[in-house]
Amino acid sequence: MAYSELVVPKHSIMTPGPVEADPRVLQAMANPIIGQFDPALLHMMDETKELLKYVFKTNNKEAFPVSGTARSGAEAVLNSIIEPGDKVLVPSFGRFGYLLAEMVERSGADMKLLEQEWGKIYDPEELIKEIKEFGPKVVAIVHGESSTGALQPLEEVGKFCRENDILFVVDCVPTLGGVEFKTDEWNIDAAISGTQKCLAVPTGYSPLTYNDRVGKILEERKKIEMGLDLKSENPRRIQSNYLDLSQIQEYWGPSRLNHHTEPTTLLYGLREGLRLIQEEGIDNRIKRHTIHGEALVKGLQASGVKIFNDLDTKMPVVTLVETPEGVDEAKIRATMVNDFGIEIAGGFGPLAGKTFRIGNMGYGCRKDNILGCLAALEATLVYHGAKGINVGDGVQAAMEFYKNLGDDQPAV
Ligand SMILES: *Cc1c(COP(=O)(O)O)cnc(C)c1O
Repeated sequence: MAYSELVVPKHSIMTPGPVEADPRVLQAMANPIIGQFDPALLHMMDETKELLKYVFKTNNKEAFPVSGTARSGAEAVLNSIIEPGDKVLVPSFGRFGYLLAEMVERSGADMKLLEQEWGKIYDPEELIKEIKEFGPKVVAIVHGESSTGALQPLEEVGKFCRENDILFVVDCVPTLGGVEFKTDEWNIDAAISGTQKCLAVPTGYSPLTYNDRVGKILEERKKIEMGLDLKSENPRRIQSNYLDLSQIQEYWGPSRLNHHTEPTTLLYGLREGLRLIQEEGIDNRIKRHTIHGEALVKGLQASGVKIFNDLDTKMPVVTLVETPEGVDEAKIRATMVNDFGIEIAGGFGPLAGKTFRIGNMGYGCRKDNILGCLAALEATLVYHGAKGINVGDGVQAAMEFYKNLGDDQPAV
């Protein structure tokens, strides 16, 4: 059987990830492979650490990617700091909060799970009350819940946790590089992200950072794998070998422990993706995401669809639209991608079928994509029989919004 040459369609990805990688990232990834202890690669690793610290807004000593998708970083942090019986509080407000809970539960922790109606966030005061009552060692929470589009404020909770010697662990997978995120200022002890969202790099890495409070636990639990050191023993050793941060940090540190094999190509890509962020400026980049997110909302409102999000607590890079009466949500997505080449995402859990999700992240977060998406969506909804769509108005409202920005126009 003969197979045709690889043909990948050129689609605009307007989902909450994976999103398009910046062309410069893809170009960087086409470079030759070098060995994992080649000085050139080690130098790239050191540079990547520094670039990550810039994007995470941290002075932490440790910032590096774990190889695996975003959840590998979350599992690495949680498994490395949680020991069986430790009290861990997980306030969930959507799919990815439940993912943290799932990992915490499997780690053997004494977990308390808080649940919230999908689309809502927690009042920080109430969260603090819950933390006081349970007295956990760790609080693990999501910053931007991409399943609902809700953004949880973290500053007050972080301050309380630090004052009470509680470890504050945050999933910033869809927010890092697109939404304001301040690791140090918000007293976050460990922050975990992914490459396939606002960083605009292919999936497969989980960049993370943690401070000395976490570092101290890793030091206490350190055990080098048998094949490298038969004498290394530690009854408190981290249960996973692959996701053992105490060993991974040594591969990323001066001792260059031969833990795993680094995905060289992805490292080239991440370094370039971070360099692009530095070139644009992290704050400019956040502003670009905010502006395009606002344009999208203005356009959707004018086009007559219903936005699911609470606009006061919405994250700027994910918007949920309620499926219009009598329309099959899967058909909307199919027409968008098949006829317009624009990929949008469906809803999860209780929101499946009832909503669809539009993302504006990274390289794809551009004016032409926002306007194109609004135009295509209006046409698609009318085509599938949605009532009350004000054809043309959404695009016009967004164009008007951009015009009124004057000198504040984003570069793309
Ligand atoms: C996308 C996303 C993840 C993704 O995890 P993967 O393992 O990379 O699929 C995790 N958390 C949040 C909040 C996300 O939005």
